[in-house]
Amino acid sequence: MPNSDQATLPDLEISEALIRRFDQTGPRYTSYPTADRFRQDYSESRYIGHLQARANSPAPAPLSVYVHLPFCESLCYFCACNKIITQDHSRSGEYLSILAREMEMVASHLGANRKTIQLHLGGGTPTFLSAQELTELMSHLRTHFEFTADAELGVEIDPRTVTADTMKMLAGLGFNRTSFGVQDFNPDVQAAVNRIQPYEMVRTAMEASRLYGFKSINADLIYGLPKQTLASFDHTLDQLIELAPDRIALYNYAHMPGHFKAQRLIHAEDLPSTETRLQIFLMSVRRLQDAGYVYIGLDHFAKTDDELNLARLDHSLHRNFQGYTTRADCDLVGLGISAIGKIGDAYIQNHHSLTTYQNRIEHGILPSAKGFDLSQEDAIRREIIMMIMCSMPLHYSAFEARHGRSFDSMFNAELAQLQPYVEAGLIATEGASLQVLPRGRVFVRALAMVFDQYARQPRVVSHSRLI
Ligand code: SF4
Repeated sequence: MPNSDQATLPDLEISEALIRRFDQTGPRYTSYPTADRFRQDYSESRYIGHLQARANSPAPAPLSVYVHLPFCESLCYFCACNKIITQDHSRSGEYLSILAREMEMVASHLGANRKTIQLHLGGGTPTFLSAQELTELMSHLRTHFEFTADAELGVEIDPRTVTADTMKMLAGLGFNRTSFGVQDFNPDVQAAVNRIQPYEMVRTAMEASRLYGFKSINADLIYGLPKQTLASFDHTLDQLIELAPDRIALYNYAHMPGHFKAQRLIHAEDLPSTETRLQIFLMSVRRLQDAGYVYIGLDHFAKTDDELNLARLDHSLHRNFQGYTTRADCDLVGLGISAIGKIGDAYIQNHHSLTTYQNRIEHGILPSAKGFDLSQEDAIRREIIMMIMCSMPLHYSAFEARHGRSFDSMFNAELAQLQPYVEAGLIATEGASLQVLPRGRVFVRALAMVFDQYARQPRVVSHSRLI
């Protein structure tokens, strides 16, 4: 059996045949149950009840805060985010004042001594806000949340909206993590998705972030975009590897124009074939490994000395709505439209619509729209799914000590369903433990789906495939 803990790059041994056999649509499991299973009409009183229950617990979890900043100046045609396209920059000032009110309302229920160890500004485009607005936002956040000295403060960067001075300003506000939306460097691909950002522009912003002390710089790539070819993506990889970000996320573009209006602007005939996508994926994994990146799982790669890989090796990797993280399981406070929070064993999502979100807050009501209260069984399944997504070993004896239940009798049917994956060397189940093997990291969502008791119910939202 290959040793998945080895410090050297694992030989993933991924073959085309293996992908063709096991690739299937499935969630990325940034939560369990997944957001499409959240219940409508999740009342404010339920949300407050969860906040207060956590506040009164003897050892409340640390906090992670997510702020959704939805404004963008122009539309990227592949986009599936909840965003508002506008050139009117006065809108962010108004949004900021509503956000400040939401923070105050949430913070009043958090209880004393809740340390905040993580912040993430996502969007939309966080840097749509002016320097003054971002300063104001941070001041509101620091008023209502107590950040630890070593807190991770992250911000998503659209390279088209920043200069070296912006990165300096963000560092001055305390940001120390950043994620660049690179997607593809090829000019034809950029034109086909309406996102023109030359290589030099990205390089300047990335070098500035390094100069001003940002750590763990991430770059997002997307494969499967219109006009992409194997050769063009190979060149994009050359250019990105030269920039040497610490982490790379390689997402698969899911063309779902029925769900996402923006994608109707993409010409389906420009999309690469399934065969090309498969070749791009395999080439990317090979090239990134050759360049010194470890395949963390799903769509994430990190340098061997990056915290994410170190956390993988010492089994302290976690997964949340931003993807993989090194921070321990926190309560997550979601602020802004459509933001999702996780408080104990409950998920809460804010209203998607800015008007409804704003109305609720102006009336002094928290803007929760959807949510999910996990049963004890849901919580157990979430634990297993998150361990699989992070390729962490699950020892049955430890499971029984935690939950007072026998793993193999509780999950007898699931263990039987895992057999084809065991035989293909994707997961090992011998020795009273469950362990995703290196080549299984590509297929973690298929493995996790075995434990998803909602996976067999009809879905409102389609999930993407690996390829
Ligand atoms: S991809 Fe990012 S920048 Fe582009 S429209 Fe979507 S949220 Fe805005």
